Amino acid sequence: MGDPRGFLKITERQTANRRPIEVRIKDWKEVYEPTDPGVLKNQAGRCMDCGIAFCHHGCPLGNLIPEWNDLTWRQDGRGAIERLHATNNFPEFTGKLCPAPCESSCVLGINQPAVTIKEIEASIIEQAFDRGWVQAHAPERMTGKTVAVVGSGPAGLAAAQQLTRAGHTVAVYERDEQIGGLLRYGIPDFKMEKFHIDRRLEQMEAEGTRFRTGITIGKDITWDDLFRRYEAVLIATGAPKPRNLDIPGRELEGIHFAMPYLTQANKVVSGASLENQVVAAGKKVVILGGGDTGADCLGTATRQGALSVTTLAIGNQPPAERRADQPWPTFPTLFEVASAHEEFGERKYLANTVRFVGENGKVTGIEIAETDFVDGRRVPKPGTEKLIEADLVLLALGFTGPDGLIQVNENSVALDDRTNLARDEKYSTNVDGLFVAGDAGRGASLIVWAIAEGRAAAAAIDEYLEGSTSLPSPVKPTDTGIHA
Ligand SMILES: Cc1cc2nc3c(=O)[nH]c(=O)nc-3n(C[C@H](O)[C@H](O)[C@H](O)COP(=O)(O)OP(=O)(O)OC[C@H]3O[C@@H](n4cnc5c(N)ncnc54)[C@H](O)[C@@H]3O)c2cc1C
Ligand code: SF4
Repeated sequence: MGDPRGFLKITERQTANRRPIEVRIKDWKEVYEPTDPGVLKNQAGRCMDCGIAFCHHGCPLGNLIPEWNDLTWRQDGRGAIERLHATNNFPEFTGKLCPAPCESSCVLGINQPAVTIKEIEASIIEQAFDRGWVQAHAPERMTGKTVAVVGSGPAGLAAAQQLTRAGHTVAVYERDEQIGGLLRYGIPDFKMEKFHIDRRLEQMEAEGTRFRTGITIGKDITWDDLFRRYEAVLIATGAPKPRNLDIPGRELEGIHFAMPYLTQANKVVSGASLENQVVAAGKKVVILGGGDTGADCLGTATRQGALSVTTLAIGNQPPAERRADQPWPTFPTLFEVASAHEEFGERKYLANTVRFVGENGKVTGIEIAETDFVDGRRVPKPGTEKLIEADLVLLALGFTGPDGLIQVNENSVALDDRTNLARDEKYSTNVDGLFVAGDAGRGASLIVWAIAEGRAAAAAIDEYLEGSTSLPSPVKPTDTGIHA
């Protein structure tokens, strides 16, 4: 523990500044400015090293938070990145994008604002990249075993790095043109610029991981062929199937799922020129769905020059403070003001979408009504209907699971009761040698869970191939973290 009285001397939580709104909405660069090293040291010094570190359990990766808080306070950046990399392959992704369940379970958070754990994590890895401390760790000995990883999101990448370092020959297959999954094509640059992915891929390539892009397994190469070529296969294909809203008027032009819209925007920001890109410029935009994806659509539409943006959520507005039934140290549902909400637009809660209306085949508005709760169902309250104008509607209503059936040796990979790919305690599907990790098995979740599952599935595969493993296994497929 760095400063035994740190939490008594510094009671204020100081977080990174967001760039001024009028400046940041004119570009796509990250919203947050780097935090001053002095502020970081003070914030790290607030960690009480409380003995039973609930933050460590709150983090699905089991990050050694008190240890690297202490090392940050002592300004031992090398020691801090060594302890951080011990449990997290990609702290730059989580340090920028994690909703930080660790902070919800920080013991200081019982009667003071929690330690700024996520920002300390981000600063440790930034300093490490700046100072050249992130080096390739090629394996000392090759096992001669081969593994294919299908999907290059955080789950696939974490598994591939662990398995490569364990000495296996690993190839990552990705259907998109570039590696990264939702990190590259879902999450906009204003949350995390793409160079963070690229510099990590350089390290992975130097370690020996092979990347094969533009190949869809199941189409360009059959699952059977892949399975014949490799001794083990990991499915890390995500849960991209979007939830639809099948109401009158759905067929009208101008109504799009969020992901194709965000993918196009991300490609264009990265320099691609696309024909028929859906853009929000000059449009009245309505986003259905109040989660992360909706906020990313909002920030994108703002930067594209939308005339107005209204976000509709069917449920109640979450509270600003913990509810009594979500006490510390659980990860509570709170009203969040993401940077995109601060910039532009209006948010409406308890808004039930009744039908889309249009003219000449194009959407012109949405009829909404107040949400009523009948027998636990959310239904439109008769007599409260009203029309809001819209010429671009984005559906950000969540995801229902992985794409299509996977056939191997004439067997379909079994699904669980939530239509995700079923797996046992060792991340194995019903087909021997075929494993699943990340959103494909868990359902749409978070980056921190994808990395944790990628690491755990790598340990299971290593054990399957070698009979034993020394790779860490931070989570079980059934773990859900500290929830109320
Ligand atoms: C818009 C958006 C914003 C988000 N923001 C956040 C955030 O801020 N913080 C956070 O923690 N989480 C966020 N999430 C969730 C997070 O991105 C996911 O939980 C995480 O990326 C899942 O990782 P994954 O590796 O399982 O899958 P993915 O990242 O979805 O990657 C799967 C990859 O598999 C590839 N693939 C699929 N099928 C095949 C095939 N047959 N052959 C070859 N390749 C294939 C896909 O092209 C894709 O690249 C967000 C999600 C979305 C949609
Ligand atoms: S990965 Fe997320 S939960 Fe874990 S320490 Fe970082 S911010 Fe906290």
